[in-house]
Amino acid sequence: MTLTVTRVTHACVLLDFGGRRLLTDPWFSERRGYYRGEPLAFPPGALPELAGVLVSHGHYDHFDLAAFAAYPDHTVPFVVKRGLAAQVRAAGFANVTEVDPWEQADLGGLRVTAAPARHSVPEVSFVIEGDQAVFFGGDTLRIAELDEVATRFGRIDLALLPVNGLAIRPAFNRQVVMTAEQAAGLAGVLRPRVAVPIHYAYTAGPLRDRLLLRYDGTPERFATALGAAAPATQARILEPGEPFTVNGAASPPLPGSPGQ
Ligand SMILES: [Zn+2]
Repeated sequence: MTLTVTRVTHACVLLDFGGRRLLTDPWFSERRGYYRGEPLAFPPGALPELAGVLVSHGHYDHFDLAAFAAYPDHTVPFVVKRGLAAQVRAAGFANVTEVDPWEQADLGGLRVTAAPARHSVPEVSFVIEGDQAVFFGGDTLRIAELDEVATRFGRIDLALLPVNGLAIRPAFNRQVVMTAEQAAGLAGVLRPRVAVPIHYAYTAGPLRDRLLLRYDGTPERFATALGAAAPATQARILEPGEPFTVNGAASPPLPGSPGQ
């Protein structure tokens, strides 16, 4: 069974596990202060049939339900960070499961496990398991708790890692997202076969970027740092709408890990 990953935009990614498809962190519109900085691969009405939608946290650029409501099947199940279900239901999607780290849900035969994350609001990351295992990092900081993903899961085939190192200028440049080099360091622990950077083209616009936000990471920096931090991992920078298939061959479990 093949695994195909297609970035829609930003952290919104379509994962296709041999025909069972999940969408992460839906973001399909723009508003003042929130610009993609890259194309949108396709609108929600053009999405293939989904087995489920994952939401890491409640920020608009990851949880754009007003635009996602154009997706025709409102019975599609959601798995969301605990606390977000009421907003999902209010948007017309009744099938929603809330999770905190290490809680699990089943989406069309794919096992979804929430994993730790830290951001400026409550967040989870996710591990999704079909024939292959995928780590989805949302837009978390590089926190030590993420090392546990490597010990709990014997094998990660694909890691989707945020790399823009976002910091908030008025909050004394408080960092809220991992940098490219920190993401590469996490890949060195998770040791996925393929790592795809996400969450890097976004901009708040020239004025807000100058006054409010700082960025510290690009996909190219991630690929360079990955060469040293995780030499066995293939870095793959994907344009929105460019599908990439991670081949279906199983890799051996990490030494010392319990495996699955
Ligand atoms: Zn966020």
